[in-house]
Amino acid sequence: MDINLSDLKEIGGRKNVSLELKFHNLEFVDREIEIKDKVQLELEIYNTEDSFLVQGTLEAELILSCSRCLQKYSSTIKLDISEDVMKSEMEDEEELYLDDIIVDNIILSLPMKPLCSEDCKGICPQCGQDLNEGECDCEIETVDPRLAKLKEFYNDQE
Ligand SMILES: [Zn+2]
Ligand SMILES: [Zn+2]
Repeated sequence: MDINLSDLKEIGGRKNVSLELKFHNLEFVDREIEIKDKVQLELEIYNTEDSFLVQGTLEAELILSCSRCLQKYSSTIKLDISEDVMKSEMEDEEELYLDDIIVDNIILSLPMKPLCSEDCKGICPQCGQDLNEGECDCEIETVDPRLAKLKEFYNDQE
């Protein structure tokens, strides 16, 4: 997506841009990030001497996979954007290419470990049951190794 800047030739000038963009899904490392509906942008663009300063907000609804239970969930993001696009790096000073700015900002906002909810119970490591949907019958020993030593010690005393 390009924004036409032919009306922003004057240094010191600014313009407001309100946009709704249908955006393709993103590939990030081995994750596929689905973007639901449209990305909404409210931007203000300033013509500085050497660059175009792009500031504003980006809103989007993403579909992410929970790192604990692997279920998909939706997450709405609202980001502040502030990018300085150097004129020397633009192919054409009358067209501002927005896609990279959008992609970079969305990717930077992604959580390292996405969670469908703070208290997601995850899946059972033994049978794979989604523990948010109900308990399984596996008995999982979660004994602190230090406590285990102590337990051994007391067992020896008996
Ligand atoms: Zn989850
Ligand atoms: Zn289980």
